Amino acid sequence: MCITCRLRVIELIFVLEYFRTIKLKDSFVHKGMRNRLVETLREKGIKNELVLGAIGKVPRHLFMDSSFLEHAYTDKAFPIAADQTISQPYTVARQTELLDIKEGDIVLEIGTGSGYQAAVLLELGVQLYSIERQNELFKKAQRFLPKLGYRPKKLIFGDGYKGYEENAPYDGIIVTAGAPFIPKPLLRQLKIGGRLVIPVGDKVQTMTVIERKSAREFIKNEYGDFRFVPMLENKN
Ligand code: SAH
Repeated sequence: MCITCRLRVIELIFVLEYFRTIKLKDSFVHKGMRNRLVETLREKGIKNELVLGAIGKVPRHLFMDSSFLEHAYTDKAFPIAADQTISQPYTVARQTELLDIKEGDIVLEIGTGSGYQAAVLLELGVQLYSIERQNELFKKAQRFLPKLGYRPKKLIFGDGYKGYEENAPYDGIIVTAGAPFIPKPLLRQLKIGGRLVIPVGDKVQTMTVIERKSAREFIKNEYGDFRFVPMLENKN
């Protein structure tokens, strides 16, 4: 191989190494970008300081493909593996705010995806169970979350339409995919006083909060339109 070619190869190795280390790091640059994202979310109406604090801590860029690194702290959804998306930070913040949970609460998430929403919930000190129907994403999250020090009680490979009976009832259930209807098992698995936050609809979803008032009584409130990838039945 000629000298110039060798130099090119060495240069390429350096560039690749640079991006590999950047991908695993959380630098002060990323922290600065996160602070700006937090300000944007505040301007967009997120009020809960604990939620904003959690968004300010979770290194979102590490949950995304390195090719989208520069977009990690813009308020947008982005593709992850298996044709799914990491939710827009505003949506994550809004759903978390609506869940209205406190430290120690038992929470069930449907749609682990990249694990970003899970990490935000864990920053708030909840005991988290999270279900994912795509095996590739489930495995990835299972490997990745502990590397960042995030320890859910359990990640489950399964169908969120069924909820997760084993650890019910929950103080909060958060669905991060667009549901065509409200699955009955999720209502049954709510504690009295607990809340289900679920985007309901086909192409566009209405953010819906169901609060369980008693064994039989549920009240419903709606919080505007959002767009999610669809909640699909069965696991894959
Ligand atoms: N909370 C995720 C959002 C991922 S997008 C994050 O922060 O990145 C929604 C996720 O819901 C996808 O990963 C999709 O595979 C998953 N999903 C869709 N239907 C599901 C179901 N019935 N049960 C469990 N997960 C489901």
